[in-house]
Amino acid sequence: MLSKLIMAVVAAALTITTSYTFSGFATGKAVRTQLPGVYSFKLGDFTITALSDGTVPQDLPKLLTNTNPAEIRRLLQRSFLENPVEASINAFLIDTGDKQVLVDTGAGELLGPKLGGKLQESLKTAGYAPSEVDMILLTHIHTDHSGGLVVGGQRMFPTAIVYVGKPDIDFWLNPANAKRSQVDQKYFSEAVKTVKPYLDAGKVKPFSGETPILPGIIARPTPGHTPGHSFYVLESRGDRIEFWGDILHVASVQFPKPEITIVYDVDSKAAAAQRQKQFARAETSRRLVAGAHLPFPGIGYLRAEDRGYTWEPLDYRWRE
Ligand SMILES: [Zn+2]
Repeated sequence: MLSKLIMAVVAAALTITTSYTFSGFATGKAVRTQLPGVYSFKLGDFTITALSDGTVPQDLPKLLTNTNPAEIRRLLQRSFLENPVEASINAFLIDTGDKQVLVDTGAGELLGPKLGGKLQESLKTAGYAPSEVDMILLTHIHTDHSGGLVVGGQRMFPTAIVYVGKPDIDFWLNPANAKRSQVDQKYFSEAVKTVKPYLDAGKVKPFSGETPILPGIIARPTPGHTPGHSFYVLESRGDRIEFWGDILHVASVQFPKPEITIVYDVDSKAAAAQRQKQFARAETSRRLVAGAHLPFPGIGYLRAEDRGYTWEPLDYRWRE
């Protein structure tokens, strides 16, 4: 009797193990639940925390331009991937000691109830409240970067001042551009929904050209993907990191082939030229970079490989 019971327990345990194996872990597919994505590290006097807003599947043959499905398949296979490919949405919190500075805000509710919008949960897990955020540095105005500014009609960061490249304010918030542009109209209406409440409250500081934001942080315009797209460059005690926004979207494809573009680019030729220029700079200077859509936490280095580049993620560290 006892041995029958033991057999039954063992059989049940095997069933559970098997079902877990096939529902995800063995295949690398997503599990049902995931803890909020948070990764903190020190850089000079600053503490930087990568915050995940979630991931979104991307149907690459429909989205990538200046390429073809066979080339996409070949590049994905090289990285052990298959279409559709997950894009991370990463934001970054810089804690200067007396100021909390958020680089990008995720998608908020703009991608629907199941995609993106996890930034607030990640922020809370990292130990910060949205009311503590003093400054928001937008790399550009687009669903997955400015979307988290407003949720349910409410400004999510009530005291924060939003910094953004002036050409993006001029482009996305001008109804005349919405009428004549080839770009998907939804980006214009989303800009009104998420950025205008901060403009109306006098909480937006548009900048033009290279602009100091705080001691140790400057904004550097890198137009192409959008007209006001900008990097934020942080330097402290000789260490340096650049927050790169959407200089690229798909690591496995655009590192080896930086000339491949995406339908989200407002000016794809300028976006590809900007990417080539910044990849070359990052590779020769061996500087640390943080990307909005690189696999979370999206921080690492570029290395030249063949005629393109490859990605070296920052070494993982968890100790006192
Ligand atoms: Zn983006």
